[in-house]
Amino acid sequence: MEALRVVELYSGIGGMHYALKDSGVSAQVVAAVDINPTANLVYQHNFPQTVLWNKTIEGISVEVFDKLCFDMLLMSPPCQPFTRLGLQGDVTDARTKSFLYILHLLPRLRKRPRFILLENVKGFETSSARACLVETLKECGYVFQEVMLSPTSVGIPNSRMRYFLLAKLSTDTRTSGFSAQVPDVVPQPGSSGQSSGQPEASSQEHPVLYKLETLVDVQRKSAQDSNESVRQIRDFLEPQTDLNVQQYLIPPRTLLRYCLLLDIVQPSCRRSVCFTKGYGRYVEGTGSVLQCHLETKVQSAFTGLELCSEEQKLQRLLNLQLRYFTPREVANLMGFPQSFSFPEQISTRQQYRVLGNSLNVVLVSRLLQLLVS
Ligand code: SAH
Repeated sequence: MEALRVVELYSGIGGMHYALKDSGVSAQVVAAVDINPTANLVYQHNFPQTVLWNKTIEGISVEVFDKLCFDMLLMSPPCQPFTRLGLQGDVTDARTKSFLYILHLLPRLRKRPRFILLENVKGFETSSARACLVETLKECGYVFQEVMLSPTSVGIPNSRMRYFLLAKLSTDTRTSGFSAQVPDVVPQPGSSGQSSGQPEASSQEHPVLYKLETLVDVQRKSAQDSNESVRQIRDFLEPQTDLNVQQYLIPPRTLLRYCLLLDIVQPSCRRSVCFTKGYGRYVEGTGSVLQCHLETKVQSAFTGLELCSEEQKLQRLLNLQLRYFTPREVANLMGFPQSFSFPEQISTRQQYRVLGNSLNVVLVSRLLQLLVS
């Protein structure tokens, strides 16, 4: 098969490009587009041969896209308009403009791409942006399937529930729809059921146990940790000898102020929460932290903590040796290969930021295999 010509929009640090490579699909990225200078430095550092346009998508004309003569479109449009924390501006959000432009473009292309894969946050499935997308795809003669998946479904101990849409041009002779190819199929958009049981948010209505955990949280975590189809966190850690642990320890002030909000995991765990772009700076809801001193159990460190003096409290918390996962470890948990690296001038904080915006490479790789097979 001749190599597919691929356009990667909102390319960031190249998660889609790595997924494509990992999938084994014969393909070449003929253009990547992003406006984030930091992400673009990282992309170009890892893919020096790929043509990367540092411009807004809506500034690229149909003619220019036509010249690329591409067979596949990969894209992860900005998710802020659809996240729970964002303002949920949906199609009225300025950040959705470029996406609407792509939808405007698709019917006008001289040659429509045979394959499309789109990634977005949970929440996108009920947006009007999604409704516009579906409408456009139908108009343009695509068959498509939507799934909601988390990396745990490919054995990676990280929750990152995301919406994926896979589309094929139905005039393609090999296309027969997707009928039941994709495992773990999502509840139809609009329904609120959880498909594979990894809710990222916890409800706070249940009786408080210790920390701010509810019974439901504890049960979920223990179920996740005993799910042997998922690997252990230890497989994703850097060799401790290479590591300057000091640099990653949670600072005392953060420990004292936010200890109840930390999601703590041990190397033997088979779970971690979604790493977002504020990881390493903020604590709540930005990703798990790792317990390095394992002789003390978290439960016992936290029992009666509220009765301790500040000093005792700090001693107990320091004793656990809690640290952030390093950017390399976050990259590992997001399925990036060892060949991936950051240019020297990118700070740790920037590394967490761009990783937090990216996607799980292994999961997308599987989806690409399904799409093209
Ligand atoms: N999948 C990517 C990340 C996508 S995040 C990865 O693996 O890293 C969304 C990206 O869209 C961000 O990097 C942001 O800079 C870019 N972006 C947002 N609006 C854009 C626009 N109008 N034109 C081009 N890029 C845009």
